[in-house]
Amino acid sequence: MKLGIIGFPLSHSLSPVMQQAALDAAGLEGSYRLLPTQPEFLRARVQEIRREFAGANVTLPHKEAIIPFLDELSDEARAIGAVNTIVNRAGLLVGLNTDAPGFLKSLEEAKIAYKHKRVLLLGAGGAARAIAYALKKGGAKVLVHNRTAERAERLAEELGVGFLSNATLSHALKTCDVLVNTTTVGMKNPAASPLEANLLPMRGAVVDIVYNPQTTRLLLEAGNAGLKTLGGLPMLVWQGALAFELWTGHKPQVGAMYKAAQTGLKDL
Ligand code: NAP
Repeated sequence: MKLGIIGFPLSHSLSPVMQQAALDAAGLEGSYRLLPTQPEFLRARVQEIRREFAGANVTLPHKEAIIPFLDELSDEARAIGAVNTIVNRAGLLVGLNTDAPGFLKSLEEAKIAYKHKRVLLLGAGGAARAIAYALKKGGAKVLVHNRTAERAERLAEELGVGFLSNATLSHALKTCDVLVNTTTVGMKNPAASPLEANLLPMRGAVVDIVYNPQTTRLLLEAGNAGLKTLGGLPMLVWQGALAFELWTGHKPQVGAMYKAAQTGLKDL
């Protein structure tokens, strides 16, 4: 079984070690390769997937751009407007999004409740769209704030969630049940946080989908303030686990995927 990940650049992806561990643990013959693809070669890459691969993951910068090259989309991928997983069904390429359910799985595993809860998202990029969609579908009351307000306004309108301006942010922060950082702030920078510590919520949980470092400054400060915390590695593992099941029909050994991802992180 040939699998891989399409993106550019791709040198820091944990998906190959994680998916190879899942294939090995399931006793399946197969390989999962990096498929670095510059935008002008995306169409050709999709044809290669159609001919030779059982499926693939898709990452930055292609999650939206790949859609016109696929044959079908899941309802989820269509609503989110982004694909992170392709399944090859006998030459028919179906685009799906496992970031959305993967995020919810990570909350459930950590016992962070979201149904009927007020969940505040910082950021309005691709990951925020998937997370907002999943949370809303899961019964949460979702509010979105972003540095570039128009982008958050557009997300809020398209996905039917709430928009937070700068003026309404600090009150909403104090009263939310779950805060989720979906911005890139803190990625590979333990000194950076998307939020001043004095603006942290008064109760509940803080989730940072950044996974490198595993404990970001935001999470450190939230932990010091007595809040429950969750990093981005579980979401990464679960989006991969759900993709694996779609490709192979096998439930993966998630523990093996966690172990491989954690070991891989040390080498990044
Ligand atoms: P994206 O589409 O490029 O969006 C980036 C977001 O970060 C935008 O909202 C952007 O705001 C904001 N941002 C960037 N620099 C900022 C700054 N200095 N101050 C405030 N906001 C800033 O990226 P993405 O695909 O959504 O990914 C976002 C992060 O999530 C990345 O770190 C990625 O690695 C992580 N991620 C993790 C997982 C996982 O499985 N754990 C999955 C997907 C993504 P503007 O609109 O104002 O530019």
